[in-house]
Amino acid sequence: MTGRVEFYRHGLGEAELESVGQTLSSLFLTLGPRVADFERRFAEYLGAEHCVGVSSCSMALLLTLKAFGVGDGDEVITTPMTFIATSNAVLHAGAKPVFADIEPGTGLLDPNAVEAAITDRTKAVIAVHLYGQLADMKALRALCERRGLVLIEDAAHAVETERDGIRTAELGDAAVFSFYATKNLTSGDGGAIVLHDREAAERLRRLRNHGVTKDAASRHGGSYRHWDMVDLGFKAAMTDVEAALLLPQLEGIDARRDAREERALRYRELLADEPRVQLIEPVGTSAHHLFAVLVPEGRRDSVLDGLGERQVGCAINYRSVHTLAYYRDTFGYRPEDFPVSASFGERTISLPMWPALPLDDVSRVVSALRESLDAAERRPATTAEASP
Ligand SMILES: *Cc1c(COP(=O)(O)O)cnc(C)c1O
Repeated sequence: MTGRVEFYRHGLGEAELESVGQTLSSLFLTLGPRVADFERRFAEYLGAEHCVGVSSCSMALLLTLKAFGVGDGDEVITTPMTFIATSNAVLHAGAKPVFADIEPGTGLLDPNAVEAAITDRTKAVIAVHLYGQLADMKALRALCERRGLVLIEDAAHAVETERDGIRTAELGDAAVFSFYATKNLTSGDGGAIVLHDREAAERLRRLRNHGVTKDAASRHGGSYRHWDMVDLGFKAAMTDVEAALLLPQLEGIDARRDAREERALRYRELLADEPRVQLIEPVGTSAHHLFAVLVPEGRRDSVLDGLGERQVGCAINYRSVHTLAYYRDTFGYRPEDFPVSASFGERTISLPMWPALPLDDVSRVVSALRESLDAAERRPATTAEASP
């Protein structure tokens, strides 16, 4: 056995060191020219008009809901197969998250389930591009158009994604991104909102900065001028240090996606003859953010232990949000309310995936997975429900 196979390793290096060094010897550390530079280049990469840099994807979600007028008494439909940040932002905005079930093959939000969940109070839909594949944005756009709903994309997994000729941030009213430590672009923590509407972008720029009319960089220069507060905003802007970390990563972004795809294809090839493992159904061009597989129900937690014992780093993305204690207690949800997501969340397991992951390690992970499945068959079945 050689060393541990890490779940994720960032690839930051000399270019990022130099870029951050330049920022440290400049005037601005917080919201300044590097943020503006990153915003321009990130919007350009996605072919969108506006980008607003913020402190996290969680704050991007909250600010976006606020900017589009979602609040008290409103309902927002989203998928329970996501990170808790998606539906928590709806609660923080004062609205009610309403879940709609997922497609069993892809884990993506099912547009038919969204349509069935619409009520008079529905104001918005948040689609999540799970693992790096685009939700069915054409169907969701048409539905939201017809019913007068705001469509938000949680694109934390999906910068370099395309489906049916549609890219991330193309059809949504806004798309939100995460630059958290394990995401494909990272500044440790950070986020962005990408959108086409200028007025909404201006409102978002105020909301990330206490609702004041001018940011520090535009207040600087010449003599002091008063600012005013016109909105109740937050402290949630991206900083120049974060932008300096992100800017060099925009170079080579597609090459890193291609490298992840090579690893995903190797996993698929090696697992093709393993009947106990269900692969995620591919749709369009994936960003390959995570490589998740589905194992038989009741075996997942023992497989997870088995992989841990074999020095393979893994994660669960995700146990279905409606099965978590807060959501069960607050809304009285039972697993069977969203049965596809509940089952998917009991079966999914994310294997190591990053651009420089050695291909030999992919083979080692697959061997460890087979051994863990063998071992799991000899242990009693468990579910998250049954464990403390
Ligand atoms: C990581 C993630 C978030 C939250 O991102 P932060 O930048 O950590 O706030 C939201 N949604 C999804 C799907 C994520 O994976």
